[in-house]
Amino acid sequence: MAKPLTEEKLRELMTKLRKGATASFTWAQYQAVIEAIGGTMVPTVVGAPLSYDHEGQTYDSHINVYPDKIEAVLARFKQFAGTAKPPTKIKVGMLYLTSVSEDTRHPSPDSRYFEFTGYLGSDGYRVTLPNGEQFDVMLDVHDARNHAVRILETGETKKPRLHTYKLSGWLHQQGWEALAAQYLGVEEHIPGAQRTKEGTGTCPVCFRNIKLDDRGHMVLHGYQRPGYGYVIGNCFGVGHPAYETSRSGVDAYLQRALKPELQSLTERLRKLQAGEVNEFLVPARSRRDPDVLVRRGHPDFEDVLKRETDGTARRLKDVQGEIDVYTWLSEHWELRDLPTPGSFEKPYYSLAVRAKAAERR
Ligand SMILES: [Zn+2]
Repeated sequence: MAKPLTEEKLRELMTKLRKGATASFTWAQYQAVIEAIGGTMVPTVVGAPLSYDHEGQTYDSHINVYPDKIEAVLARFKQFAGTAKPPTKIKVGMLYLTSVSEDTRHPSPDSRYFEFTGYLGSDGYRVTLPNGEQFDVMLDVHDARNHAVRILETGETKKPRLHTYKLSGWLHQQGWEALAAQYLGVEEHIPGAQRTKEGTGTCPVCFRNIKLDDRGHMVLHGYQRPGYGYVIGNCFGVGHPAYETSRSGVDAYLQRALKPELQSLTERLRKLQAGEVNEFLVPARSRRDPDVLVRRGHPDFEDVLKRETDGTARRLKDVQGEIDVYTWLSEHWELRDLPTPGSFEKPYYSLAVRAKAAERR
């Protein structure tokens, strides 16, 4: 059980959640809202795998070792080597290696390259929603691999940090913005002064309640991608009529933003996979350091290429998912009344996400 929050705090979180603004949520806050909507979130300790399968191929973790580090790394391989399975009592931050093999594909002549498989002890959670859907939160394979390499290189056994984005992504797919709206909706009063809904409408792009100009179009407002909660410049919906009165903003967003983005990501992925990208500018780890130009032949090149390829593939999937949702919103559009003072905002976007998810089952 999470430490109980005050009703006021819980409502504040639900209000953020309803808008998809969960970027600042802590694990304890996730736990509180999940329990409030009738689900459970139980802490676990798991062995996060260090390899993963993709399109029929298994990708192991690897480490590139320079001569001055080789003895220390070989000693750590021995220290962590052992069982075929992680032991029943897994320790968070502990490395469990099941195999280590040297590979002859040396990325540079004076270093040695090893592939290894196994597990990294990670904090985790088992989340169950009221509809029975379940999700196991654990360290992402990329984070686990990076952490394992750091342990092998330095011997440090700091706890790996678990990020919330996987959980928020899954919960978003489950349409939990709508559950939060329901939670808030069953209450008779919404505390605090409520902004009047007169002269407002739902933005056809970010699906927030926005003021209308005298022609019934969206006034200037920042872009908040539904379900992600971050703001980037002006919203594409500015100048378009409200979703209640027209589908034209949704269609324009599909044709002029999402589909071109899909096309450019597809092309980028093709180039990455065809080996046509020969350099990357890698952002510095801290603001004091300069960005690093990694060219083909650089010891990190293969790692960076892999990361870029995976990231692009992931973004491509996200954009395809958004295209599906906005297409659904366009196809199922119907003329509705604009919101009236005190009326409850209809979560069109979340409803579309849920409807799409239900279609896929
Ligand atoms: Zn907008």
